[in-house]
Amino acid sequence: MRLLEHEAKTILKRFNLPVPRASLVVSGGDAPDTPVVLKSQVPVGGRGKAGGVVLVRDNRQMTETIDQLFGLDIKGFKPMAILAEEILEIESEFYLSLVIDRNAAAITLMANKNGGVDVEDQTDFKSWQVDGTRSSADVTGALVAEYFRLESHQFALQDLIENLVDCFIKSDATLLEINPLVLIKDGDLVAGDCKMELDDAAAFRHPDWSFQDVVADTNFVELSRSGNVATIANGAGLAMATVDAVADSGLKPANFLDIGGGASEESVLLAFERIMEYDGIRAIVINIFAGITRCDEVAKAIIAAQRQLPNLPPLFIRLAGTNFEQAKQLLEERSITLLPTLEQCISAAKKEIEG
Ligand code: GDP
Ligand code: MN
Repeated sequence: MRLLEHEAKTILKRFNLPVPRASLVVSGGDAPDTPVVLKSQVPVGGRGKAGGVVLVRDNRQMTETIDQLFGLDIKGFKPMAILAEEILEIESEFYLSLVIDRNAAAITLMANKNGGVDVEDQTDFKSWQVDGTRSSADVTGALVAEYFRLESHQFALQDLIENLVDCFIKSDATLLEINPLVLIKDGDLVAGDCKMELDDAAAFRHPDWSFQDVVADTNFVELSRSGNVATIANGAGLAMATVDAVADSGLKPANFLDIGGGASEESVLLAFERIMEYDGIRAIVINIFAGITRCDEVAKAIIAAQRQLPNLPPLFIRLAGTNFEQAKQLLEERSITLLPTLEQCISAAKKEIEG
């Protein structure tokens, strides 16, 4: 699962990594004091170039900028929140990341002395194998300091790398990227941005993980912005089969979505919200074969979605498995019909769309 920047920075802070002072702005909430940098919290990069990072120095521009950011779509995402941070007076921007080298069964630290929004254009990344020890951080920190030409910051870099690797390992991360790592005018190094991906399979040992909005995104794959049918299924195999069946019928699937085993009402509701970001959806095909997942949880989410999402397209639902009877009763009480097979769901959706 990919975290939002503010979630990732909260974790960094816990590991004594330097992050800017920050607060979170939600729609309709209090505006922060100027000067401040406002950053759209969407789970994709390239926000700077898309206009999703704005420095506000004048209070009179605050409301307008906040409204503008909440309305700004970045690669298909609009933010649920905006991160408001103290402005960093930037001297230089560096790139640091930790990734897993699967072949070597090791962690690799990658660095580039030209960090910032154009880092994709760089070809000459340096990399070193690191582990969680102090000596590894000392050696690598000295090399990074030399490469960055920041010899005066060697101790800071050694500490930073030690904490970064510690954070990576203890958080069960699969990616931890600081870009930019900012050298500010008065001399300190600060994580200007952070991209972090966590290993979903490790969730069982992190009861503190509650990144609901991102969790629901985990198994969502966009197939087409112009699709006319959204799909919701559980299990990657069933989800793929559902997408294939929709496409075979001549309709255009917008997405692949595997809600996963043990999906809760909350996470399924978030899936609906995600689907509502697509403009051309005329039908939602729901195909659940419940094992660990419970049909009644899915049914409750469907009911909540119908109540909360005013423009929800027609639903074509096939449920089977655990707690089917409870689900059927819940849905029937609200006059939501179930169809016995996926085939029938798809032909009903086709009729809805093509008349
Ligand atoms: P991304 O484009 O999604 O990676 O978003 P970033 O958080 O990395 O911000 C993009 C760029 O905006 C950075 O590389 C900086 O150049 C600039 N930026 C972000 N925060 C600040 C800040 O506090 N002060 C200044 N001067 N520039 C900033
Ligand atoms: Mn960045």
